[in-house]
Amino acid sequence: MERFRKLGLSEHIVKVVHEMGYIEPTEIQAKTIPMVLAGRDIIGASATGSGKTLAFGAGIIQSSTKGAGVQALVLTPTRELAEQVTQALRGFAKHYGLVIQDIYGGVSINPQIDGLRRADVVVGTPGRILDHLERGTLDLSRIQILVLDEADRMADMGFLPDVERIIRKCPQGRQTMLFSATMSPDIEHISGKHMRDPAYVAVEQYIDASKLKHYLYDVPTNMKFSLLVHLLKTDKALGLVMVFCNTRTTVDTIATNLERLGINATAIHGGFSQNQRTKAISMFTDKHIRILVCTDVAARGLDIPNISHIYNYDMPKSSIDYIHRVGRTARAGKEGLAISLVCERDYPNLKEVEKDRSLKIVEKHLPEFPRMPLIFERGRRGGRGERGGRDDRGGRGGFGGRTGGSGGGQGRSGGGFGGRGHGGGGYGGHGGRSGGSGGSGGGRPRYGGRGGSSGRGSHESHGGSEGGTGGGHYGAEYGK
Ligand code: ADP
Ligand code: MG
Repeated sequence: MERFRKLGLSEHIVKVVHEMGYIEPTEIQAKTIPMVLAGRDIIGASATGSGKTLAFGAGIIQSSTKGAGVQALVLTPTRELAEQVTQALRGFAKHYGLVIQDIYGGVSINPQIDGLRRADVVVGTPGRILDHLERGTLDLSRIQILVLDEADRMADMGFLPDVERIIRKCPQGRQTMLFSATMSPDIEHISGKHMRDPAYVAVEQYIDASKLKHYLYDVPTNMKFSLLVHLLKTDKALGLVMVFCNTRTTVDTIATNLERLGINATAIHGGFSQNQRTKAISMFTDKHIRILVCTDVAARGLDIPNISHIYNYDMPKSSIDYIHRVGRTARAGKEGLAISLVCERDYPNLKEVEKDRSLKIVEKHLPEFPRMPLIFERGRRGGRGERGGRDDRGGRGGFGGRTGGSGGGQGRSGGGFGGRGHGGGGYGGHGGRSGGSGGSGGGRPRYGGRGGSSGRGSHESHGGSEGGTGGGHYGAEYGK
């Protein structure tokens, strides 16, 4: 506790964090809290789960006065994060009597308007905050502290113009803090324009190496899903599990197929609406469902405790992404396991990840396990899979035909905005003896995104050739 006190935290907050079981400050806390309390503008870069909320929360709580109007504003990209931050701040502020109000869209505005009349601190998403500003139900003229939390995610979600509009409504003399897991030119632009001589604090990605084990299975492409099923079924010690995939399509396919086999799983990816996300995440965190299948983008910034296992169904493309994923487990002194299922198409990514020499990924012997069907929804109609895809992802090979599918159709259009590049070619056929031959040709991304990469047609073609002359679906979320 002495270390918390030395950072300048009040006795009340020291007491609360002690009750919460914190033993010592995290690195980002140790490095930022003294500056936060001194009123300095700060840019803090550190991984999800490294304790940023207390870092800015302490500043907010120690400088706010009950009943003096809205003095601090925290912007978050999503509703879940607004809720999480609000809960955390209420916890830290419990001896202060401050009123902390969360504000986000998708719910009735009236209770928020009531809450805002008494609020000292507001935490919310940009869209709804602008809504309140337009209605005149939120007054930012007394803001002393402005926090942009998860700035990278706000940028990903296209919120930066809204964020800037909000910043312009805040008084000039305020303290501004920006937190982000990664930095980008957009974010630097915002900080350059709206912050005063900010201190830049970047902290190494935090993983307790002694508590986190990394395993890898080298598995034939056509057995990957079966191995995942086997591991999920046989490991008895499982807490919550996250299964990371590289594309939205794979997330959908894996979640659906797990369900089909009676394994409860929920999915999130960038194509989900805010309501669907919230529902999926609450199913997961309330432990009704133990398995969350997700993409990197969708999972960024979520703080979900008690994750015991991370599976990489696809290998992420860099060690930074790998560390982001596995950083969800082995948190706060708990044990964690990161398990990568690596097949041929993952080798290039594995090579990238392994460039980080601090990662010790141990290869495990492949156990015996039964083969499970992996069914692709839209390719189920026939044995041949000649049907072209109807959407911009191209079609998929057929299922169960003796000759396998002949890959997907031609991708009609490329990616949408900002480089998503869903290309053409789809999966090769599944279950056919000669495997599928991938799709033909990725669509051309319209707005400068990346097209699908070529030659990765067959996803899990059973036996036979790995098909694919065309663009794969792998461009999908990479461009984001
Ligand atoms: P971030 O915003 O960096 O993703 P959070 O502030 O959400 O991280 O904290 C992640 C988790 O770690 C929370 O459950 C929080 O209660 C816990 N935590 C924060 N600081 C500490 C600490 N010093 N010691 C132990 N646990 C901590
Ligand atoms: Mg956070």
